[in-house]
Amino acid sequence: MINLYGQEISKLEELLISRGQKKYRATQLYIWMYEKLAKNFDDMSDVSKSFREELKRDFCLTLPKIYRKQVSQDGTIKLLLELEDGNKIETAMLPYSYGRAICVTSQVGCNMACAFCASGLLKKNRNLSAEEMVGQVMVMNELLTEQGEKITHVVVMGTGEPFDNYDNVMDFVRIINHPKALAIGARHITISTCGLIDGIKKYAHEGLQTNLAISLHAPNDELRNKLMPVNKVYPLKKLFEAIEYYESFANRRVTFEYILLKGVNDTLEHAEQLAKLINNASTYIVNLIPYNPVDENSFQRSDDKRVHEFYSYLKKKHINVTIRKEFGNDIDAACGQLRAKEYGKTNN
Ligand code: SAH
Repeated sequence: MINLYGQEISKLEELLISRGQKKYRATQLYIWMYEKLAKNFDDMSDVSKSFREELKRDFCLTLPKIYRKQVSQDGTIKLLLELEDGNKIETAMLPYSYGRAICVTSQVGCNMACAFCASGLLKKNRNLSAEEMVGQVMVMNELLTEQGEKITHVVVMGTGEPFDNYDNVMDFVRIINHPKALAIGARHITISTCGLIDGIKKYAHEGLQTNLAISLHAPNDELRNKLMPVNKVYPLKKLFEAIEYYESFANRRVTFEYILLKGVNDTLEHAEQLAKLINNASTYIVNLIPYNPVDENSFQRSDDKRVHEFYSYLKKKHINVTIRKEFGNDIDAACGQLRAKEYGKTNN
């Protein structure tokens, strides 16, 4: 069975042509799936009966199932979704003033082993398929319809390393960006990587106007090696070469994410090192992230005063810096927390 939600338009066109169908059928199916929200093939009234029978035989429109749902007082929705093989993944909706953002998971578990992150508590089990990523948006949209809203922004910042699942993530991006599918603007789509440089270089040539975020979290190799093992393979020098390469081809601005961890990476000396490090990058934004504490490690969030001192220092150095708005503090908001808890429970 081929899940239609995973079909990027040019691949679907090819597939249909190889089955003796006309190319335009692909767009026709997209309209039924994404605009008219058809749940089964019999609803597709302008599709010939024989083609519908073929679709029913070989294709499906399966979406992940909601296994658990948490809604925060601020409107944040966090879902634990069950996939067809029983694996469970997290996805979250953040209600910004400018729109509704979804934080999409790209892998079941993660192998990057960042010291501060709850996602890495469970190693990678497998990559998500494009349809499982599209499915996260579809399921969240279904919930939002009740409020007259829909997803307007997508960040691939849930569990997993998107560039460790490169091709499926690119299919996903092209599907949600397609005007006859979810039509989410490229500039409203962001992929976040811990710094897999082959992926960064490849992404430079995708011809997409989507955004790239780099999880930096430390301003020198010694500290970054400790926090993010990926740095031992791709140290800062190589990472910045890849970023410059990306900027020169994609002509897009890169965002650096920097979680502030109390007493670990948040001193003014770190701010100074950070300012020097990114001084070379031609265009950039630094997004300072208040840490979401995770039970399984001892990292703590920096005090508000320290966050503001760090912020002010960078501002003084003319760095384009923001502090990430926080959502869902009353629910398990940190990436991977809900899932880790669920599996912790089931394993007991
Ligand atoms: N693997 C990718 C995307 C998933 S993580 C990456 O590393 O970018 C998405 C972002 O959330 C990363 O910047 C990550 O470092 C950050 N993050 C992980 N755990 C966090 C926590 N407990 N609190 C705040 N941010 C966290």
